[in-house]
Amino acid sequence: MNTKNILVQYDGGGYDGCIWEFNFFYIDKTGKFYDIFSSGVGGITTKNAALDLLQNMGNSFSNKVYIYNLDDKTKLKEFATECNACNVRSIVAWFNQHNDPDAEPFAICSECGQEITDADDICLATDFHGCGGLAITADTLLCSDCYYLGQCDCCNEYDKTTTARTRPDNQEEDYMCDGCVEDLEEQEEQEEQTDMAFSSFLTGDPDMFSNEMRWFWNAE
Ligand SMILES: [Zn+2]
Ligand SMILES: [Zn+2]
Repeated sequence: MNTKNILVQYDGGGYDGCIWEFNFFYIDKTGKFYDIFSSGVGGITTKNAALDLLQNMGNSFSNKVYIYNLDDKTKLKEFATECNACNVRSIVAWFNQHNDPDAEPFAICSECGQEITDADDICLATDFHGCGGLAITADTLLCSDCYYLGQCDCCNEYDKTTTARTRPDNQEEDYMCDGCVEDLEEQEEQEEQTDMAFSSFLTGDPDMFSNEMRWFWNAE
């Protein structure tokens, strides 16, 4: 088996079957071992343990072993699309630091599909869903352009379904998430009612007892 220039993902311990517990090591093209991230009882910290894991495609702690050959673009794409987004960002960041031209894993933007080689350009949007029913992960991975496009101008949260709105205190159009649009509409309605009440008190238009002013009497 080829054990050079490979990134290896395995479950290193902790909660059984949970994506958060995946650990990573890397063996460079000269055969040097790097423990990128190891946690829990199954964490691999030596080259011997690494080779043992590779030889048996598992050990007493782990039976999930994924080998990504860093010379193989197909494998790199597999890594980018099949690993948890948080892990992808951490790994790309680690390799950015490591700075070896022969080992450059990248992320793939889930929106536009472009390859992202710089970890600083990887944005994670909070898209909560359970992982094996045990933990919560945030894993929509986006390039900074797509993240910026989908970001709510109001609360800065990422929300794909932002709509263009103009806030009363702002001349320019904003792209807002559903939650912020709702807040804005509530605020607008309240302002409208305050104006109406003033007008009704001062000028009698609309009439205090008209249908238009029904909200005033129904308000709690
Ligand atoms: Zn993108
Ligand atoms: Zn918002």
